[in-house]
Amino acid sequence: ATPVPRDIVIARAQEPKNISQLANEIGLLPSEVHLYGDKKAKVNLSVLKRLELQKPGKFVVVAGITPTPLGEGKSTTTIGLVQALAAHKQKNAFACVRQPSQGPTFGIKGGAAGGGYSQVIPMDEFNLHLTGDIHAVTAANNLLAAQIDARIFHEATQNDKGLFDRLVPAKNGKRSFSKIQVRRLQRLGINKTSPEDLTEEEQRKFARLDIDPKSVTWQRVVDTNDRFLRKITIGQSPSEKGHTRETGFAMTVASEIMAILALAENLEDMKQRLGKIVVAVDKQGQPVCADDLGATGAMAILLKDAIQPTLMQSLEGTPVLVHCGPFANIAHGCSSVIADKVALKLVGPEGFVVTEAGFGSDIGMEKFFNIKCRSSGLVPNLVVLVASVRALKMHGNGHPVVPGIPLHDDYVHENIELVKKGLPNLQQHIQNCIKFGVPVVVAINKFSSDTAAELKVIKEAALSCGAASAVVCNHWAEGGLGAADLADSVIQQTCHPTGNMRFLYDLTIPLEEKINIIAQQMYGAGNVELSPHVQKMLQTYTEQGYHNLPICMAKTSNSLTGDPSIKGAPKGFTLKVNDVFISVGAGFVVTVVGEISRLPGLGVRPNIYDMDLDTETEEIEGLF
Ligand code: ADP
Repeated sequence: ATPVPRDIVIARAQEPKNISQLANEIGLLPSEVHLYGDKKAKVNLSVLKRLELQKPGKFVVVAGITPTPLGEGKSTTTIGLVQALAAHKQKNAFACVRQPSQGPTFGIKGGAAGGGYSQVIPMDEFNLHLTGDIHAVTAANNLLAAQIDARIFHEATQNDKGLFDRLVPAKNGKRSFSKIQVRRLQRLGINKTSPEDLTEEEQRKFARLDIDPKSVTWQRVVDTNDRFLRKITIGQSPSEKGHTRETGFAMTVASEIMAILALAENLEDMKQRLGKIVVAVDKQGQPVCADDLGATGAMAILLKDAIQPTLMQSLEGTPVLVHCGPFANIAHGCSSVIADKVALKLVGPEGFVVTEAGFGSDIGMEKFFNIKCRSSGLVPNLVVLVASVRALKMHGNGHPVVPGIPLHDDYVHENIELVKKGLPNLQQHIQNCIKFGVPVVVAINKFSSDTAAELKVIKEAALSCGAASAVVCNHWAEGGLGAADLADSVIQQTCHPTGNMRFLYDLTIPLEEKINIIAQQMYGAGNVELSPHVQKMLQTYTEQGYHNLPICMAKTSNSLTGDPSIKGAPKGFTLKVNDVFISVGAGFVVTVVGEISRLPGLGVRPNIYDMDLDTETEEIEGLF
């Protein structure tokens, strides 16, 4: 067989159809499509209203076993499967995928458009700025951060009256509260509409947020693996009069605003969630929110286009909605509820929507169910669990897989023993899916060095562990045709009614119990060790009334445990939770396991060394 060319070569060889044509084919009206050139378009949310009565299609989520650092082909399988369903099984089929972050693209992992003959095109646009959503999230996040520190500064340098007068200035000789200020008055229980009517005490209460600078949890964000921003001191210019503060940056895509965008049902819901973001507590220990800082509307303005999913296409011309949320390890890591809902309506009751949950089932899929499905009411018909010979060999104690270094012989030649030794990892992930009451089809993503005997071992093990079916697929090398059997299996397994889905825990149980359940049931942990700080904060959140929120675990994606170097599926280990913070707007409590950082760094040889721009042709090199 001819070797499969590099991803970018394949992607470039296929001229995408005009995006207006695709939009027309899938039943979007011209008024619902905002063109960004002729290969990308934003989809207006008005389509949801127009198709209110349309019955939704079948909903399939693609998850994976614990991957090697190279990735085992979830994105590739998502695209391969929709290509198979649409082009080879004559079904309406949509892929809903996440927008890649520039962190991994320029860092270790490369792009996330899928690979081989199962890709989103144009892959360079997909992997770079797309339609600017991530930049919009950065802007909104950092606007709020700027407002927090400015406000702390102004409150420290102004007296009560000066502060109140500046917050409520006269316009055309008349003073009045803005809409957002009226909301703050209501929260404070001050039922007055005219600024002149407030007593001095009320003016002080209104004007002073009294933020405790040490309690600020809101970080600035950036979409670059810039490790030196993990911990910084701000306010060092003399103009800030000594108001320095230690803080740090997180990855934009792991921010609460990205999660809000992904979980919001519509613009109004997004605005409500933005307003509820808690950034700090005041000197009495009461939460201070974005609405108190006046920032809700301004952030919503910055995000009004980003809330619309972007329409692109696969190599075989089938529709793909790109939206939100990569980084299932340090964030919830799912594409948006809105994209899924738009796609489910557009495909109609006989159609299919295939969405992705990042990394292993313990990471992305757990959050997909317990956070995303819970908040949106979406119910998947099926989980497709991607497994590979390569990852199972690694779990069976194969040599470490290190990006940039050629794979060890273990991975290139047949080694049934290694595959067999790695099977407990597959078993844990199949069990994880079954715990949510949804059938699971294992997609064995075939790499060219895999042998029939190795693939057979995985298939038999998957069936004996409770998978509804297990299918070898070759869509990376063959496009949709290579996933035709997988598509048949998906069609067959989605015929059943969906009534059995359940969550892992009830929201009413204590936060600590929720953490225990995830650790024990999804990771195989024996017990959980909470640091004293985490114990104290869980107590505080409970007293503040946030105990009914679900948990969003920030944990390494390279292991079922909290230690990235541990492979396989160990049982009974202790999971250490070292940090915790709350995302009230997104609607979850983030617990940080082990030493995971919310801002990755660049290694000695990041992908940037391979990147170039041909200034004659404007062709990009080095994005794989
Ligand atoms: P994930 O979504 O699980 O992280 P991807 O689908 O992004 O994984 O695939 C990771 C990388 O592996 C991509 O560069 C892709 O081209 C490559 N890849 C995926 N499947 C195969 C395969 N069957 N053979 C060779 N390379 C593959």
